[in-house]
Order: sequence, then C-alpha cells, then structure tokens
Amino acid sequence: MTTDSDLEQCLAVMSQRIDAARDDLIALTQQLIAIPTVNPPGDGYAVICQLLEQRLKPRGFAIDKVRAIGALGDSDKYPRWNIIARHEGRHAGECVHFNSHTDVVEPGENWTFDPFGGEVHDGKVYGRGACDMKGGLASSIIACEAFIDSFPNYQGAIEISGTADEESGGFGGVAYLAEHGWFDPQRVQHVIIPEPLNKDRICLGHRGVWWAEIETHGHIAHGSMPFLGDCAIRHMGEVVNTMEDSLFPLLASKQTDMPVVPPAARQSTLNINSIHGGLAEPEADYTGMPAALVADRCRMVIDRRYLMEETLDEVKAEVDSLLEGIKERRDTFSYSIKELFSVLPTMTEKDAPVVGAVANAIREQLGCDPEYVISPGTYDQKHIDRIGKLKNCIAYGPGILDLAHQPDEYVGIQDMIDSAHVMGRTLAQLLAAPTNNH
Ligand SMILES: [Zn+2]
Repeated sequence: MTTDSDLEQCLAVMSQRIDAARDDLIALTQQLIAIPTVNPPGDGYAVICQLLEQRLKPRGFAIDKVRAIGALGDSDKYPRWNIIARHEGRHAGECVHFNSHTDVVEPGENWTFDPFGGEVHDGKVYGRGACDMKGGLASSIIACEAFIDSFPNYQGAIEISGTADEESGGFGGVAYLAEHGWFDPQRVQHVIIPEPLNKDRICLGHRGVWWAEIETHGHIAHGSMPFLGDCAIRHMGEVVNTMEDSLFPLLASKQTDMPVVPPAARQSTLNINSIHGGLAEPEADYTGMPAALVADRCRMVIDRRYLMEETLDEVKAEVDSLLEGIKERRDTFSYSIKELFSVLPTMTEKDAPVVGAVANAIREQLGCDPEYVISPGTYDQKHIDRIGKLKNCIAYGPGILDLAHQPDEYVGIQDMIDSAHVMGRTLAQLLAAPTNNH
C-alpha cells in the first residue's frame, strides 16, 4: 500500500532531479532556439522534430512523426512535420499530453542579441522563440523526464508533441493532428500547452476571432480627370471614418467577465490589419513613376476579437450594418465582404481535472494561489477543443506573454525551472500509482 511518505519521497527525488537539470534545461532551450523554425514560410520542422526524437527516443518514448500532407501551408519545399512522443507507464491510466508549437515568427529588427544564438545573460536565455515557446517545450521535457525517473511505477501515459504552424493558424499542426484522432479523448485525457502565460497563471481559454476582408469598388479612370472615375480608396476612407465614429466606441463599451490579460483586452477589439488600394506596390528595384489612375478597388482586412458574451452572428451584423449605413448616405458606394477565418471563444471550466491538478501544483511549489486568465489571442487550444472534442485543456508555461514576437525575446531560467517543478507535480497528481513508486 502507498503511504504519504512514499509519495513525499518520490516528489523530493523528482524535485532534486529538476534542480540538477538546470544546465541541461538551458542547453536544450538553446538547441531549440538555434533551429530557425521561422513561420511563414515554415522552415526547419523536419530538423526540430529530429532533435526532439534524438532527445526522447533514448528515454523510452515511442516516436511518431506526422507530416500534415494536404494541409494549408504544406508543400514539398516546406513540409509541415509534427512529432508525437509517447511514454507508457507500468499500469493502465490516463494520458497527460504536453503540446508545444515548434514554429516562431520572424525575428524582425532591433535585436541586441543574435535571434538564433540562445545567448545567456543575466539569468535569461535570449532568442526568437525563447518564451514563445521553446522555453516552455524544454521545461515540459525536463519535467516529464524527471517524473518518469522518479515515479517509474506510474500509471497511464505521457505524451510530448512538437507541432507546426501555430503562428499561422495551426492547420498544418494541431488542427491536422486533431482531425486525425491524435487528440481523441479516448487516447488523451489532459492537455497542457506550455505557452508563455507566466509560471503562476493558468490560462483557461481565449477570446473569439473573426477575420474578414472588406472590398470597396470604384471605377478606373485617368488620374487627371478623377471626376470621370470613382475612387475606391475614398470610399474606404469613409469606412475608416465610420469605424472611428461609431464602431470603435461601441466595441470599447462591450466589457467581458472573462479574466482576459492584459485587462485592456477585457473588451471587444478590432484591428485594421491592412489596407491596399490602387496600383500594386512596385518591385523594390523599379525606378519609374506610378501611372495616373483612379483606384477601382480597395481592400481592408479586419481582425475582430470577440467575447464569450457576444455571438459570431452579432459580430458580423455590426460590420454589415456599418457598411449598409454608408451605402444609404453615399452615392455609388458599393462593397463586398469575404469571411477569412473565425474561431469561437473558448474557456475550460475551472473545475476541470487538469485545472485542479495544475492549481494544486502551483500552490505546493510556489506557495501562492494561481491566477486564472484568458488569452487575448487564440492558440492551438481551439483545435483541441473544437476538432478534438477534448475540453480538459489549458495553457500553462514559463515566460512573459508581452515578450512574444518582440525583439530581444527571452525566457527566465528560474521561471523555466519553477514551471518544470509545477509540471512535474501535476504529473504526480494525475499519474502517480497508488503503490510505492520508487
Ligand atoms: Zn505561442
């Protein structure tokens, strides 16, 4: 029979192992950062999957590598490779799955550190993807290895996946895996996504998304006689003005009870992602002048984030009525609208088993109550929830969300260690066998 002291002893051994793995954790994070898995276009997925295979196979994980053939973004030039590593415990039980995306956004300008150098400075590892989310991936690997070594008799299974394309919607990654049964609740019961939400926070879900493209129509003519044409850009100007006058104030007035962080995102938001009108941008090496033309079309992409309290139909109706209103008062205004993408808001219940286990682990390890939060943007939970039908899913991982996608992105080394402890304790709660473990 198990005793509390048995469990305590295993936990103490695991804790020592995680602390002792500090250098290993740093090195692993650096190795992951050194592979420039920049997306778009989606480089280096095969290489990073190979690194993860080399790490986990000798530790007794069974490896599956899955290419998302036919998924959006997959091509022979940029194949979307994913890896799922599974470790079986000694007894039947539930499966805890750690899912990390392996892609990063492009580094952009203004770095002081080499974006793929993984330099350590002042207790932090710097590089593109350090916090979003190669540091989280490394922490989960260290946690799983330490748990397996300290609880060799555990029941159930552990999975670690490295998946493609989260930064571009996840279609060649988690969505593909979910469609092919990898997140079927029959085989996976708990999912933790180590996105950078901070070590003492549990992220229960995210706001909804609606992306659409609005096109205003005009009539082409010579630029010297604009009265003979109809400028689509001026029509789009009226769309922007009307948004400023009525839509943005309306969105600001819609507040949510969802605990979104940062708090400024506890309202509906709309970002004008892009506007293109008139002549296409010339090639960089073009030295001539533009042609004198009236723009016959102008396109705007909008990125609307909405709340649990709203429905997608309401969100669409607001934009429709704005455009219809302009049509009534503006001669020759004509438009079309095309939906690009939508995601329903999602929020895992606070009493879900994985939430309770991580909350207890945070209390034990960090001595504080967890903060429950909602992400302003979506992440791969949407696919696990909607396609995989698995509701017992959260994001929990080290790093500061605000640093994601910024120059000089970093992850704190102690934050990674603390998160690894929390993840290990979570595994112990969900998978420790009721007989002596060590
Ligand atoms: Zn991320």
